[in-house]
Amino acid sequence: MIARAALDRLLDFRADGGPPVVSVYAAAPVDPKEKVHVRARVNSLLQGLDPLVENRELDRETRLSIRQDIERLREVVADEHWRPHGVGLFCCSARDFFESVELPREPRERALVDATPWVRPIAAMIDKDHRVCVVTLDRGHAVFWEHRVGRDDELVRIDEVEDRVLRDADHTGGRFGGQEYTTHHKVTELAKKHFRHVIARLEKLFFPELDHEVQYEEVVEGRSPRDVGADESYDLLVVAGHGERVSGFLEEFPDRLRQRLAGTFTDPSVDDRKALEVQVDEVLERWERDREQQGVEHVLEVEAMGGLGVTGLHTCLWAASSKAIDTLFLREQDEAPGVVCDGCGWLGEEGEVCPVDGRPLRRTPDIVDEMLQSVLRDSGTVHTLEDGVAPEARSPLAHLRFPLPPEPPG
Ligand SMILES: [Zn+2]
Repeated sequence: MIARAALDRLLDFRADGGPPVVSVYAAAPVDPKEKVHVRARVNSLLQGLDPLVENRELDRETRLSIRQDIERLREVVADEHWRPHGVGLFCCSARDFFESVELPREPRERALVDATPWVRPIAAMIDKDHRVCVVTLDRGHAVFWEHRVGRDDELVRIDEVEDRVLRDADHTGGRFGGQEYTTHHKVTELAKKHFRHVIARLEKLFFPELDHEVQYEEVVEGRSPRDVGADESYDLLVVAGHGERVSGFLEEFPDRLRQRLAGTFTDPSVDDRKALEVQVDEVLERWERDREQQGVEHVLEVEAMGGLGVTGLHTCLWAASSKAIDTLFLREQDEAPGVVCDGCGWLGEEGEVCPVDGRPLRRTPDIVDEMLQSVLRDSGTVHTLEDGVAPEARSPLAHLRFPLPPEPPG
């Protein structure tokens, strides 16, 4: 998973009225021969920033810091050894700030200068970065696989459970119904036992924190699950089996495991790993889209009833300013210039002074990024939507924690 810790460090960077941060996103190709092209592309992105260094409207300290940032980034790119598929670089020389974040997918390549790091591509990747456990099972045999969404790594076999089965279970009993019943009963019992073994293994993979010793430690030392690494467990489950066996298996699920289930499919291609991967990807894509669609529809419904949902940039900005956003939904193309109050955190589309506390406002090229940062800092969740999930005029959208206070006259 992309270290959420890296995003947190970027979110911690607060504008202080001093020189800005240069943010650069670049692809890191799998093929080493492509690297020369990456270098050329990043250098041309950086070249695009040269006019800022000459811009006499900026103060000397800012121009100097940007020039040093460009130099440092050119050096970093010259001896880059990034792993696929991308990297985000953040530099503010005046404040001795530098972060390099490896990305699991290719980002849209871009360089941007603003008072704070531009984090949206990283937040979007974290939103979609799931650690998935896939189980393929039949009557007496289950194989566990690890799968990372959006990465081209193969499915990795991590574990298996083998239980006793009766031979020719479907054709037993002969002429005597009594014996058939007994055998059938035995087969069902063995299958149930097998399912329970598989579920016990899944519980360990998904809820390692349920181990009593770890829980005790958490309470005693007051550490979060993230500190003890519990968030490194699996977060989504895909189940694949033959026909009715999947449903019999799912009936045995405890609720907490059922909540992690992204979907199921039948007749997995266990002998063809690539084909199995395609089947898993289909399930996960459907799950992701359904999740987004349900979230968006819920916001639209509650907004229509005057409840805890808002749509459109203006109202979402006021909701974020009020620290009222529980979940923010936005599209990659939702981007607009705007203004920020670094005193109270008020966000707006335009203006010179903050309508809340009268401080001068700071301009930003992408107010949606500032809104996203504000929501994440307030422990909210942000989902970046796929194309076509939200009606264009209604995005961004937000689900609120509490009703919005009236907007200050501005
Ligand atoms: Zn303010």
